[in-house]
Amino acid sequence: MSETEGQAELLAIDAEYLWHPWSPSRVSPDTLVAVSGKGCEVTDADGRTYLDAKSSGFNATLGYACGPVVDAISAQVAKLMTYDMGEGANIPAIRLAQRIGELAGPALTRTFFCNSGSEAMEAAIRIARFYQAVLGSPDRGLIVSLHNGYHGATMAGAATAGAPSPISDDLTPSGFITVPGPEEGIGALKGFLADHGKRTAAVLVEPVQSRGAYVMPEDYLRGVRELCDEHGILLVLDEVTTGFGRTGRMFGYQHAGVQPDILATSKGLAAGYISLGAVTTTQHVFEVFDSNKKMAGFVHGHTHSGHATACAAGLAVIDHIEREQLLANVQARGEQLLATLEPLRELDCVTDIRGRGLMIAVEMDRSRRAAHVRKLMRDNGVLVRRTVKNVVLAPPLILTAEQADRISRELLDAARKAALVEF
Ligand code: PLP
Repeated sequence: MSETEGQAELLAIDAEYLWHPWSPSRVSPDTLVAVSGKGCEVTDADGRTYLDAKSSGFNATLGYACGPVVDAISAQVAKLMTYDMGEGANIPAIRLAQRIGELAGPALTRTFFCNSGSEAMEAAIRIARFYQAVLGSPDRGLIVSLHNGYHGATMAGAATAGAPSPISDDLTPSGFITVPGPEEGIGALKGFLADHGKRTAAVLVEPVQSRGAYVMPEDYLRGVRELCDEHGILLVLDEVTTGFGRTGRMFGYQHAGVQPDILATSKGLAAGYISLGAVTTTQHVFEVFDSNKKMAGFVHGHTHSGHATACAAGLAVIDHIEREQLLANVQARGEQLLATLEPLRELDCVTDIRGRGLMIAVEMDRSRRAAHVRKLMRDNGVLVRRTVKNVVLAPPLILTAEQADRISRELLDAARKAALVEF
């Protein structure tokens, strides 16, 4: 890249050649072309620096250019970038699986590596179905997810969301259903499982739903656990966004003291430095596979499962979270943000403020108003995500008190301005 190319020149090339995820095929002229980053800040191709209150895609949990992670990656890639886990193993994958087992244990011990959150959920769903089949119920494959959930963009992930699609229903994967979540109480899931529990392989839940920081109440999560136990259903916790510190605990489920049978993680695991995903199961789930003599274990995997450099990044990320005591920082900064955003409740157009740790949403009456807030904040140098009617904050876990204050100030200011606009 020529150093003289600015946003406009780069976006002209982008418009001709790139196909962006989650967006219309034509790139918007206000797209931020990021060039460099340091800590919680990212700089665009015109040299403008922003405070990134959305951690890139909720994944840059340690911010940009985190020295120990960069060093771990450089050292590993120079020594052995990776080695195939199908017929072999490598040290970072062995060590990271051990580390996750220690953190998520005592029940969750076995880790299967993949490359993204979608792949982790895909593997979790296949594990759940294989598990029920090995136990004698090959038809027991229904996957139940909750309204407002998001579990990825593969065929199975997209099916869990029931997203609108122009494709005929006959061509979409079957065996997926969404039911109301805590907004209707545990009764909705209970009623569904009373009728369909025997056909259900797994229930998928995010401890905090990433679409709008909807926090699962602790008694609701405990209720889901009880229902799963009662019906022989596996509880899959999708911690792709919440895992590795975002809620102020290493894993979101630790707030409720509820252990899943299968835990899916990704974004915070390698903190955006390299693609990495993980599925961690109980020893029991693993042993059911192991006991099946007709099948060679879990017939599933990826070329880059257990990629050595990605796993070395994961180890450095966990070390950094612990060494810098980032979980305590997340709790403190999260409480600070929620407290300083409280005056927003005076605005009629703000319908809710919710969240846990550094995963917070301000819900507006209209999605266009939320989009306007996002734009005003960006104009003032603070990046947030807009999801439907929500302005979502998910800053890096290293956020300082001053940076948290700046986010609140800009959000208050933008929401007050947006409140005056007719949509
Ligand atoms: N599950 C949850 C809860 C997520 O938030 C996401 C991504 O936003 C995914 C799954 C999919 O992860 P990925 O985008 O890495 O495929």
